[in-house]
Amino acid sequence: MSSKSNFKNVKGTRDILPLESIRWQRVENVVRKKMEQYNFQEIRFPTFEYTDLFRKSTGESTDIVRKEMFTFADMGGRSLALKPEGTPSVVRMFLQYGFFTKGILQKFYYIERMFRQERPQKGRYREFRQFGAEVIGSSSAETDVELVKSAFDIFNELDIKGVELNINSIGCPKCRKNFIKELKGFLKGKLVSLCEDCRRRYDENPMRILDCKEDKGKIKGAPVPSDFLCDDCRAHFEEFENRLDFFNIKFNIENRLVRGLDYYTKTVFEFVNANLGSQNEVGGGGRYDELIKFMGGEDTPASGYAVGIDRLMLLLPEKEEKLGVDVYLVTFDEESDLEGGKILASLRQEGFSCDKDPMKRSVKAQFREADRQNAKWVIIIGENERKRGIVQLKNMNKGEQKEIPMEADKIVKELKC
Ligand code: ATP
Ligand code: MG
Repeated sequence: MSSKSNFKNVKGTRDILPLESIRWQRVENVVRKKMEQYNFQEIRFPTFEYTDLFRKSTGESTDIVRKEMFTFADMGGRSLALKPEGTPSVVRMFLQYGFFTKGILQKFYYIERMFRQERPQKGRYREFRQFGAEVIGSSSAETDVELVKSAFDIFNELDIKGVELNINSIGCPKCRKNFIKELKGFLKGKLVSLCEDCRRRYDENPMRILDCKEDKGKIKGAPVPSDFLCDDCRAHFEEFENRLDFFNIKFNIENRLVRGLDYYTKTVFEFVNANLGSQNEVGGGGRYDELIKFMGGEDTPASGYAVGIDRLMLLLPEKEEKLGVDVYLVTFDEESDLEGGKILASLRQEGFSCDKDPMKRSVKAQFREADRQNAKWVIIIGENERKRGIVQLKNMNKGEQKEIPMEADKIVKELKC
């Protein structure tokens, strides 16, 4: 059915219609359940923040801040931005509400909408949803594995297959110094041939050149962070690998995988799925031991990840999703309609989904509606039933019909068996 209206949703946003919504609920329910099994606490944060938060924590030199953020001014002229990712808000809340207590771990999770001004295509939208988890206060590789495992638990529970884990270590500021020096030396002679972004990154953010898709072929043989790890970072990475092995989590070491900012440290990882084509990254994360200090807090290690739910939905196996109510009411006259409405109210209290026709339509139309709604049961009431103090209860799957006393608890008993 097409309409004459010219109104359409904005490019890059998504409308989620009722049947699709059932799939989304399935995913969100699993995320909540699993996150809570890991003792992650849910936090929710605003849709927009002061732009400076992202400038500082996501980083001036990142694509997100340079090109993708939706920003606007409030009436006082302060720049605000629709949140493009979760970690900055989580860190802000951690600092703002004084969550810091030495030696105490904070484990958060969120399910939030994110906004990025990118070219819309399959798996890439301007408004999308992520779930993520952040652990603040632990420097241990065990935490990194716990985060990875929580994501795989969610993929497995949803029966999502083929997600691969790529991992790397990008070291700490100490060992990175030598690496950056070597990398810049290697790239210097090649700069003219690199893309415009990478030429800019050379000064601002050279590590990021390693995972540029465009220049991949041109920087073969470039030094990688793992060649420069200090003893501490190397031991941390080994523990990360060993514990992944221990849980039978398969991984690929991708020595060009980086998160290109100074406050990212040690572990980085991404979840990819080949079936997603060019938008193959399902999620990513890593350790950011320097960020909280950089944002004005105490020196506090932290680690986290985010998964794009819209991309996950593309991998979610089809199940027979059906809209439907438990009980639909069919009545022959107004008095029965009133009585029936009372019964439905009681059944709703008992947890059943119920519906009825509010427009006094014919019995035939009411039955048609019961079918359209995939009702499991139909309660039929007419003058005759009222006089005898009963209802007809029809089991739509079996096609059987029974007479039950017109009392909510008796009907409930029947529905439950
Ligand atoms: P990509 O390389 O695809 O642009 P990214 O590195 O920008 O991804 P992150 O910032 O790590 O992605 O965000 C984590 C996850 O959020 C991604 O793996 C992806 O699943 C999802 N995501 C990111 N941008 C979008 C988008 N525009 N539309 C839908 N999902 C997105
Ligand atoms: Mg991106």
